[in-house]
Formats: sequence, structure tokens, C-alpha cells
Amino acid sequence: MRRVSVFGATGSIGENTFDLLSRRADIQVVALTGGRNIARLAHQARALRAEIAVTAHDDCYDALRDALAGSGIQVAAGTQALIDAADRPADWVMSAIVGAAGLVPGLRALSRGATLALANKESLVTAGPLMLACAARHGGRILPVDSEHSAVFQALAGEDIAAVERIIITASGGPFRSWTKAQLEAATLAQAQVHPSWTMGQRITIDSASMFNKALELIETREFFGLDPAQIETVVHPQSIVHALVGFRDGAMMAHMGMPDMRHAIGYALNWPARADLPVARLDLAALGQLHFEAPDVERFPALRIARHVMELRGHAGTAFNAAKEVALDEFIAGRIGFMDMARLVDRTLDRLMSDSALTAPVQALETVQAMDQMARRVACDLAVRPVT
Ligand code: NDP
Repeated sequence: MRRVSVFGATGSIGENTFDLLSRRADIQVVALTGGRNIARLAHQARALRAEIAVTAHDDCYDALRDALAGSGIQVAAGTQALIDAADRPADWVMSAIVGAAGLVPGLRALSRGATLALANKESLVTAGPLMLACAARHGGRILPVDSEHSAVFQALAGEDIAAVERIIITASGGPFRSWTKAQLEAATLAQAQVHPSWTMGQRITIDSASMFNKALELIETREFFGLDPAQIETVVHPQSIVHALVGFRDGAMMAHMGMPDMRHAIGYALNWPARADLPVARLDLAALGQLHFEAPDVERFPALRIARHVMELRGHAGTAFNAAKEVALDEFIAGRIGFMDMARLVDRTLDRLMSDSALTAPVQALETVQAMDQMARRVACDLAVRPVT
């Protein structure tokens, strides 16, 4: 029987994974992890008869233990417990913790030779070379779960990467697609938290509104598929039906289409290399009528411009970018900076770090990634207390 663990089980990706796993009798669930949503974690652990449930927070241990009392399911808490859970033998591991916290559990799973279904794009953005080297060294495998990267992965099946001219990942444009710069300056948290086509966690939803999510995905594309930045593009496609396109040197273009439902990409990774029935709505092209595409505007969405710079710099620039972006997002959620200030803060953090040779030094060890992550957070926090305009 296949053994499966889910990191970030209580989140949006985690719930979609739970839905698919609930329909399968041929899978043994090893570990489920969450953060503060203890009721949901306990419910999932009971429903899937998991071996262990882990909360990332020590202070949630008692609540989780009480919620699972009498179930026979083991309980653990804390950062080390997450790592220990990743060490437990599971063939397939879903990496769906949000943010840089997802990196180490994913690396641990890969170092056991597991297949890592990777939703946590921050892992590739911050430590792409480490992730790929770890998988190669230990016989692990990374299967992309981000819908755009899953789409590219599927379009590339049976193809030679050398024949690829360009990759185009689509962007819905988020709730502010047609807003003016002045309107964006005044955008509120409530307005940024509503996505027109996808239902996702709070942080990625706001990142979609600012296009920082697309910026992360551009970098993720570069890290995972290994193309030059000039070969990687994004196009705005508000319907979120075409997830990505791969252009080949003969001019042919393969597009991946499907309804915006993350169970597609998760299910593809779960069933890979086979395909199996999935409970997702089917496309009705005639009802859709037409597909709309438009060029992205880097003036209104500077995250896309910053991503280009980061892709050129490589080294630890992705780590610094992600860390600064996480700080900027925290500041925006807390109401301390405005919507457009997020990009300004990230820009200024990278500018400040440009004089440090560590920024562009090749990523070879987890320690240097963690050091850059900490340094960029310090710099961003320091800059955030001053006006960023
Ligand atoms: P959510 O915010 O919905 O869920 C995040 C999960 O991580 C929850 O289980 C949460 O626990 C847990 N968590 C939060 N902080 C920590 C921490 N410090 N340590 C350990 N666990 C933690 O996020 P999403 O599901 O939306 O996104 C997860 C990842 O997948 C992100 O990297 C995102 O970019 C990526 N992704 C998401 C997509 C989507 O459709 N949602 C699409 C493509 C990629 P709790 O809630 O219990 O506190």
C-alpha cells in the first residue's frame, strides 16, 4: 500500500489533498501536519486514520492531544516534530506549508528518496539548486503542484527540453487587474483578499493581487525547468482556463487547459505517471465562447519587474526576495504599509543587499540559505519601520 504524508494539511492545498485522499482506499496516511487549526487537523487525522498528527506550534500540543484522545493517533508539536515527521517513511509527500517554513521538511522528504508533490513554491525560489541536487542525490523526485508548473510539466511529457523556445505561464491578473496606479496605492486588505477565479489561502491570495505570486512563479519556473529568464514569460488571462503554454523551436505551442480547481494538479501529482479519474468539472468550450489574454503591466505590478532582476541575479537573490516579500506581506496585513509599498519594500531590501557578495553567491548549503533569509528579514523589518514611499 502507498504511504502518503501531507505537510500543511489544514490549508487550502491541504484541504484539496484531503478531499482526494478521502476518496482512496489504497493509501495509508502516515503524517498530517498543520499549524493552529487544531480542530481541522484532528478531524482529518481521524478521517484518514493517520499514524501521526503534528502541529508546528508547541503551544498547540495540549489541544491536539485532547482532540485526538482515544484515537490511537500519535501527536507531536514543534519545528523538530515537523522534521521528524518528514523522516517517517512515506513514498509521496505533499509540501503545502505556506512560506519559507516549508523548505526543510521538503528537503528531508527528498533526502529519503520520496516523491515530493511541491505546492510550496517558496522552496524552489529560496533553494532551487539544493532541492534539485537533493532529489538527484537520493533518488527523490519533485512533481510540481502549482497549476502553472504542473501544466508545463504535462506539456513537456515526452518532449526534449532542448526543443523548448519559451514557457508562458498565465496570470489571472487578480482582483486589481484593471485598477489604476492611484487606485492600487489605496487598495485595502479586504479588497486584496478576494480572488476572482481561485479559492486559496490568505497569503497567496494577496500575493496574487500584487502579482508577487506570479513573480515567485516566474522564479520557480526558472529554477525547476532551467531555462534562461528571457525564455520565460507571463501573460494575463483572467479566466484561468489556460494554465501555461510551452512554445517549441518549430513554432508549435502546447497549452494546458482545465477548470481552475487545484485538485487537478494535486491529483495529477498523486497519480503520476498514470492518469486517473478526478472529481473536477469538465471544460465546456462552447459555453466559454472565447479566451482572453493581455500583456502584464509592470508599472502597476512592479513585482514582475523585480522577479526579472532576481532571475538574472540568481544565487541567494531568490531567498532574499522571498524573505523581503514575506515581511512586506506581514506589514500590509498588519495595516502598517500600503499595498504598493510592498513592492517598494522588497525593492529597497534587495538594493540594500546588493553590496553583499553573499547575495549572488551560488546556493550550495542550507545554512547559507537560512543566513540570507534571516539577513533579508532583518533588513526588510528595519526598512519597514521607516516610510517606504
Ligand atoms: P494556507 O495558508 O491555506 O495553508 C497553509 C498551511 O501551512 C496550513 O496548514 C497552515 O496551518 C500551515 N502553516 C502555516 N504556517 C506554518 C508554519 N510556520 N509552519 C508549519 N506549518 C504552517 O496556504 P495555501 O494552501 O494556499 O498554500 C500553501 C502553499 O501552496 C503556498 O506555498 C502557496 O504558494 C502554494 N500554492 C497554493 C495554491 C492554492 O491554490 N492555495 C496554488 C498553488 C500553490 P494552519 O492553517 O493550521 O495554521
